[in-house]
Amino acid sequence: MSLECLRENVVIVTGAAGGIGGAVARRLSQEGAHVVAADLDAAAAGRLAAQLPTAAVGVGADVSTPEGVEGYMNAALERFGRIDGVHLNAAYAGKLVPLAESDVAELDKVMAVNVRGVYLGLRAALRQLAGQAGGGSIVVTSSAGGLAGAQLWGPYVASKHAVIGLVRSAALEAARDGIRVNAVCPGLTDTAMVRRTEQAAGSEDLSAGRAALEQRVPAGRYAHPHEIAACVAWLLSDEASYVTGATLAIDGGITAGSYVPPTE
Ligand code: NAD
Repeated sequence: MSLECLRENVVIVTGAAGGIGGAVARRLSQEGAHVVAADLDAAAAGRLAAQLPTAAVGVGADVSTPEGVEGYMNAALERFGRIDGVHLNAAYAGKLVPLAESDVAELDKVMAVNVRGVYLGLRAALRQLAGQAGGGSIVVTSSAGGLAGAQLWGPYVASKHAVIGLVRSAALEAARDGIRVNAVCPGLTDTAMVRRTEQAAGSEDLSAGRAALEQRVPAGRYAHPHEIAACVAWLLSDEASYVTGATLAIDGGITAGSYVPPTE
């Protein structure tokens, strides 16, 4: 499906050097949008921006700090003069250990990137969009772990539940300004982040870990990042003009209920 209405839109994507953020940046650019690609890894964000078919900017930014958020917001405004959309997608997974063995420094780091980072980005985007004509769209990457618990992922799961609360509250506050705020909840998606889960599921043998995980997905496979990007691009576009405050599971059915794989 073509999203012609994204043409000439200006969209900030955080975590753009990663698997999902990169796929979103490429999809938006293919639709004719201008992308501000922000990531902790400034060099990778710059390389991505340079490869996109439309004018784009790469910015090094730590989303958990006000300076980082100001940096990507200013980069967008200086280069393009406005923003139409923001995808708050950067996250830190933390160490995968049972809660009883976890430490508070890791909890703080997970919360700083995943909750404080989204809070700061959401606040800055709401202020900017409310001061412009025409409204806009904000998408936050939560997770299937924002809808249900996951063993070994306690602090991360808590952070992904928390951002859904921010999304719902922001959606209520901003709707009359024509600003839509939604969350996407990916399931197992084929990026660097999922390698951690594979290690936990299959010791050092990543392919065994992957096979064990894919068995648990009703669709029988991971998502490709472009499948998440398609939904994010749609939510950012006017095609989703009446969708706000929503949490969209993009998870091959994993949060639909308990799933028993068929026996051979
Ligand atoms: P990824 O590891 O490929 O990308 C994450 C990106 O975030 C990296 O480029 C990293 O440098 C960046 N980042 C981390 N901390 C940052 C910070 N403080 N400031 C700026 N950038 C920072 O992982 P991904 O799978 O592409 O993850 C994207 C989003 O999708 C995350 O919110 C993640 O929680 C979510 N998610 C992923 C999966 C999955 O299975 N891959 C499942 C559910 C949700």
